[in-house]
Amino acid sequence: MARKKKKNYFFENIEVIDAGARGKSVAKTDEGQVIFLTNAIPGDIVDIETGRKRKSYFEGKAIKFHKLSERRTEPVCEYFGTCGGCKWQHMKYESQLFFKEKEVIQNLKRIGHLELPEITPILACKEQYYYRNKMEFSFSSKRWLTYDEIKSDEIINDTNACGFHIAGMWDKILDIDQCHLQEEPSNAIRNFVKDFCIENEISFYNPREQSGMVRTMMIRIASTGEIMVVLQFFVEDVEKREKLLQAIAAKFPEITSLQYIINSKGNDSIYDQDIILFKGNDHIFEQMEGLKFKINAKSFYQTNSKQAYELYKITRDFAALTGDELVYDLYTGTGTIAQFVAKKAKKVVGVESVPEAIADAKQNAKNNNIDNTEFFVGDMAKVFTKEFIDKNGRPDVIITDPPREGMHKKVVEQILNIAPQRIVYVSCNSATQARDLEILDAKYKIIKTQAVDMFPQTHHVENVVLLEKR
Ligand code: SAH
Repeated sequence: MARKKKKNYFFENIEVIDAGARGKSVAKTDEGQVIFLTNAIPGDIVDIETGRKRKSYFEGKAIKFHKLSERRTEPVCEYFGTCGGCKWQHMKYESQLFFKEKEVIQNLKRIGHLELPEITPILACKEQYYYRNKMEFSFSSKRWLTYDEIKSDEIINDTNACGFHIAGMWDKILDIDQCHLQEEPSNAIRNFVKDFCIENEISFYNPREQSGMVRTMMIRIASTGEIMVVLQFFVEDVEKREKLLQAIAAKFPEITSLQYIINSKGNDSIYDQDIILFKGNDHIFEQMEGLKFKINAKSFYQTNSKQAYELYKITRDFAALTGDELVYDLYTGTGTIAQFVAKKAKKVVGVESVPEAIADAKQNAKNNNIDNTEFFVGDMAKVFTKEFIDKNGRPDVIITDPPREGMHKKVVEQILNIAPQRIVYVSCNSATQARDLEILDAKYKIIKTQAVDMFPQTHHVENVVLLEKR
């Protein structure tokens, strides 16, 4: 029963029953009302404190644990719970997989009202840590203080931080000494840069006051072994910048691309900024099954390279190409899927809204000696018209890999107009995928659906669906 105290509600002895969207877990009150929890996992039995009731649910926290779930495991990271990055580190990997697959199936059924074939089990990721090829760290002179620090009477002098944004706090950075998501020398580089800046009085950015010098750092470690480091400064100070970059280059000779940006705008985005080369090349290469992909500071590339290979193989298998097909690769990014399937197709047409990505796609196809791909820039809803199809041909197979929002309704309708024999829908958000599939259901039957875990320790899950014309 809920007891009201101030604005909060209390619920006692509640079993957590499910894992829900955005990494939260789900419990139900005795009256059957849903409570979303941030700090418990399915199988825990807990007392819960919640805030005011939202439309039809509560959001709260477990305040007492009566029984801990058998699905629990010890989180590897000391920042777990504070850092918002890996929400599920306290859940055994097989349970993470179970709930990811369950979410996908539930979304397809409940949102899409779809009839599903036998489900192919979710593909686990071999590496459950150290799987990311790219990390972005932020510097701040406003470190996020730990609870113990705030409680203690000690005067805190060291407020510099290099690490991750605290969820929901645009100006607070959690200082990180070791992150378990990217291989070394990722931690070594970050910690060296942080210490060097402090020792040499290179000030940390303060987003509130719009002051300070060192702002963000991106580290990319490619499957080829090449390493790219891009430092972003808020202001130019030639002497200090040179000193820092030279020190990084001397300490880490394995860095093959060392670049920087002077960004005095209010936000951290690098996409409208000039990237300046300090040492090495302005790019690194990723490789996949004999293909090479040139990656510059602004290029998009799947952040889990090994699992991207698995995802692409499933996509190619589902497409079941014989060599005669005209394939469209919608939301092609840097054209990776297009190039990955090109050998098995007559021709592949890729479409994508980011011009730089399409420039990379063309360059990569050329470097890879692929001559049966064509790439076009534009917003899908505007580009993917009847004229476009008339000009480039009616596809036999469409592969589509949209962003989290899914496809624009016009794009889905256009796919229905074109009515290719097969559609392979790759999605990083099964809720929007389900919404789109419900519309496609008018002409298409789901033949296979396969979830793929690209991001262990997080709630994110990728899903690939094969559709055949009815
Ligand atoms: N298939 C690629 C990229 C998928 S990510 C890969 O595997 O690497 C989704 C892509 O959709 C991004 O590259 C993004 O820039 C692009 N995108 C987002 N909105 C778009 C739109 N309205 N029109 C065209 N492309 C869009």
